[in-house]
Amino acid sequence: MTSAPSPTGEGVAASDLIRTLPRKLKIGAYDWRIKIATGDNDAWGETEALKQEITIWPEDMPSAHFCVGIVLHEILHALYSVDWLEPADTEAKEESIVAGYERGLVALFRDNPKLLTWIKRGLKPCKI
Ligand SMILES: [Zn+2]
Repeated sequence: MTSAPSPTGEGVAASDLIRTLPRKLKIGAYDWRIKIATGDNDAWGETEALKQEITIWPEDMPSAHFCVGIVLHEILHALYSVDWLEPADTEAKEESIVAGYERGLVALFRDNPKLLTWIKRGLKPCKI
């Protein structure tokens, strides 16, 4: 199916992009369920570590780039919860760190599309 360009000029609208998001992701050692919710939520995403579940509210997302950022943001919260990073001493501190990584990763991947291609090439399963 062809997607109409979004009003902000990207190749795909957030509402179309979100439909192709895998509903299960392996994050750390575990499989996480990805839920796409309807309705309005000011945060656009939520990570529930004890349920190993990420919920995304795509309504009113301004662009596909923003959508990618929100998904990365919640994945970063999930990574926090699997203890790969020292727990932040406050929830606000974790939020600030995750938001910083989110914006940094979105900018990095937008500014360096060849890097994403290179990463995908490097992460292909090894031929043994
Ligand atoms: Zn957050």
